[in-house]
Formats: sequence, C-alpha cells, structure tokens
Amino acid sequence: MPGKNKYWRWFENAVFIVAFFYISWDWVSNFFIYLYNTILGKGMIADINQQVKTHSYNDTFMTIVWEIIFIITLWEIGLLLYEAVQKEKENKWGLAKGKAVFHYVARTFKPTFLASFVGLYIPLLIKLDVFQLVTPFFNKFSLFIINNKWYSWIYAYLVWELSTWVWHYTFHRVRLFWCFHSPHHAPDDLTITTAWVHFFAEGYFTTFMQWIILSVMGVRAEMLIPIFAIEVGWGTFIHAGERSLKKGRLGLLKYFLITPSHHRVHHAKNPLYMDTNFCTFLPFWDWMFGTLQPLRDEVKIEYGITRQMDVTSFIDFYFGELILLYQDIRHTKGCRNKLYYLVKPPGWNPGNMEHTAAMVRSDFLKTNPQLDHTSRKWIFQKLLKHQPVNH
Ligand SMILES: [Zn+2]
Ligand SMILES: [Zn+2]
Repeated sequence: MPGKNKYWRWFENAVFIVAFFYISWDWVSNFFIYLYNTILGKGMIADINQQVKTHSYNDTFMTIVWEIIFIITLWEIGLLLYEAVQKEKENKWGLAKGKAVFHYVARTFKPTFLASFVGLYIPLLIKLDVFQLVTPFFNKFSLFIINNKWYSWIYAYLVWELSTWVWHYTFHRVRLFWCFHSPHHAPDDLTITTAWVHFFAEGYFTTFMQWIILSVMGVRAEMLIPIFAIEVGWGTFIHAGERSLKKGRLGLLKYFLITPSHHRVHHAKNPLYMDTNFCTFLPFWDWMFGTLQPLRDEVKIEYGITRQMDVTSFIDFYFGELILLYQDIRHTKGCRNKLYYLVKPPGWNPGNMEHTAAMVRSDFLKTNPQLDHTSRKWIFQKLLKHQPVNH
C-alpha cells in the first residue's frame, strides 16, 4: 500500500499537527469568547432572543445543538489527551514520551482531522455544488407536491430518512460506492470528530440520489432547510463516543430515535453489526427493512473496517479501498467480472459471495441463533403465523 514512504509520513504528520492545533485553537478560543459574552448577557442568550423574536426556531434549535456538540467535542479531545498522558505517566517528559503521546493521539485524531482539512479545501478547488445544480429542477419530476400542514412535515421527514437509508445502504452494498464511504468507517475509535470524515466526492452522489427520491415523492425544496438542520445536528451528535456518553442509549428515547449506541453499532466491524442501522434520526426505515440492530451487551463493539488497514496512514485510510478496487479490476479476467467488481458488494470475488457482509452476518447468526432478532424476522413471523423463517 502506498503512503509508507518515510518522508511522506513526516509530511502527513506535519499537516496533522497544523490541522489539530489550528482547528482546536479556533474552537477553544471561540468557545470561551462565546461563553464570556453569554455570561455578559450577549452571546448565546442574545442569539436565541433574536431568533425567537424573528420566529426562526430552526436557528434557535441549531444554536443549542451546536453548542452541545461543541462542548462534547472539546470534552472528548481533552479526555483523549489526558488518556494519552496518563498512559505514559511512569515516564519522564522528554522526546520519547512526547512521541508516545503524539502517536496515541494521532491514532484517533489524525484520520479525522486530516479528512476534515481535506474536506474543507477540496471543495474550493472543485467547485461542484450538486444541491445548487438540482434545486431548480426540484419539483419538476414530482408525482404530487405536499402542502405545508404539520402532517406534511412528518411525511417529508420520513421521505428524507428513506432517501438517507437508500443512499447509505447502497454505499455499503455497491463496491464502488463503498470506496467513497469507507473513510467514514475507517477509524478504529469513535469520537464526534468521526462525523467530519467523508470522502470529498461522496456528497455528489448522495445528494443526487436523495434528490431523486425527495423530488419524486413531492417534498418541497424549502422544507429541506430545517430537515437538513436536524440531520446534520443529530447526525454529528450520534458520533459521541464512550468517553463522553458511556452507554449512549438515551433511556426511553432509544425506542424512538437513532441514538449514539445505535450508530456505534453501525461503525462496528463485528459480524453481527455489519451493515445495520443506516438511518440518522428516526429508526423507522431500519425497522421496516430489517436492518435495525440494537447493541447487545454480550457482543462488544470493535470499530473500523474488516480488512487489515493502517489507520495512521492517510493514504490507506482515505484512498485504500479505491486502490484495492483498482487492483482487483486489473487482475481479474473478462469484462463482466471487471464490471461486477464495481457493482457487487464489497468482499465479492468472481463466483464467491462468502466474504460479503450479508454472508458473514448470516453465517455468524447460524452459529449464534439466540442473537437473531431483527424486525424483518419478526414481521415475517407475524405474516407467516409463526412459521420458522429460513435464512
Ligand atoms: Zn455507513
Ligand atoms: Zn457515522
């Protein structure tokens, strides 16, 4: 795998150090300035007052959500630094200890901070805003257009979540798309900063796929602003790791919402957890399609992706799956197999489905039937009047 070159590694590490201090300092200083202003009656208080006066409740909601996320993120960064220093507490401060602390922190934060950095700057080079491109055509292909009543908002959110489920499922089950989505799953530790990790081109495809579903189903473009606020706010929050929210099940809310615990399962590589929990806010479609998987205390989460990967190499982390796909296509014979590599699920090899997530999961459940509780199985059992379901 490329990216092993010593000088390249030094370059990656140098960029990481700059990104880490630049982003952290920006956040910490802004946080304290905002807090100071809030104590003086300005800052958050003034912001929320203003937003309530102008009935922009969407902004009020986002101000509160972002402050919560902000605090959790800083808390997680602080805790990880503390953990790194504690691990080395026997040793005296010096070059060796500095390096050990750096590597400990870099294992979790190098991929996330570098991906965030790249995600900030690539769009400045490639000016492609798919959302802006498709917005003018939004309701041109609608079967009908919904009204503004309260129940239409519930409908709109459910259609949004359906479009999320569809893109997310497709990006897990089609190898080319998996290459774009895999950086999000690469970290072997979970913190809020994992929410920042997206391959720069991923959004072009997901926006397009969501647009097709939303516009055909009659959701109006302006409804997407508050919906998007919830998606981004909640979608970031559910990445809070065990350091900040130990269980993350959120009590009774776990029955109605996708919780950090659900999303931890989504980021796990255990056979039971692979390719489950695709929704962001409401578990409805996961429940409908049988991909809802609660955390089981007896199956401890292992984060990351199943292949051997060097998480501290940005090249492997960000481009590794694309490189491997290219190699598989190059080394296989026949146009059909080359094409199949692009569209079949990750793990597929000519004539062999054994290593795909669906097969790995179903093999695991054959030997662990007591863990096989999906809503799909429950629905089928109801429909088939308690006849056993074959997998
Ligand atoms: Zn995913
Ligand atoms: Zn995630």
